Amino acid sequence: MFARTSLAAVAAFILLFVFVPTSAQADEFGLAHKTIVIDAGHGGPDGGAETADGRPEKVVTLAIAKKLQVLLQQAGATVYMTRRSDDDLASDLDQAMGRRHQSDLRNRTRFAKSKAPDAFVSVHCNASPSPLWRGAHTIFMKDNPDGEQLAKMMQIRFKELLLPTKREADDMDTLYLLRRIPGPTVLAEVGFLSNPEEASALHTEKYQQRIAFAIYLSLLDYFQQATAPPDEDAS
Ligand SMILES: [Zn+2]
Repeated sequence: MFARTSLAAVAAFILLFVFVPTSAQADEFGLAHKTIVIDAGHGGPDGGAETADGRPEKVVTLAIAKKLQVLLQQAGATVYMTRRSDDDLASDLDQAMGRRHQSDLRNRTRFAKSKAPDAFVSVHCNASPSPLWRGAHTIFMKDNPDGEQLAKMMQIRFKELLLPTKREADDMDTLYLLRRIPGPTVLAEVGFLSNPEEASALHTEKYQQRIAFAIYLSLLDYFQQATAPPDEDAS
């Protein structure tokens, strides 16, 4: 009995003092101490896309962004939100001069860049003239390998966790925010409000939570890969 207890104590000692990473190592791993900017698309007078019965995109994007914020904070990340309420970021002067949309995008960009984020995710919903179009997908900026990597990892999680999608991560060269914010920057188009099945799911807390979790996991995938030691077997 004594010998067994001693063995257990030795094993516990080894686990505690040999195999447990130091706090510095733990801090470098995953999402701890990463700064993430989440951009909930649209807001205020800009409702974005709509469902057939007039429910706006801006409500869905903000709900997902808030859920994602909680998950990331629980993992130790510092999170900044471009908006936390039903408002856009256009200045009063620009709105009065009819430049609301440009002003909104400019201020989102400024805000994001001022935080020097380790990753930037903009959350949007899609819409098309046909109710048949469906499927979440991610978009990255052409010639941004970090954005491409995160977008592809996020697309894998979307396929695993969300309503069926055959879409792949797409590159673009004209998106205002992604073009101006360096690093792993991704636009997450989380589903089609014009598709009846996706529209009703997108307005439920349960599906919003699944989307937030899929985005969260992809960020975890990305940073775990980025901080993992190189694979010695890889040739
Ligand atoms: Zn949008």
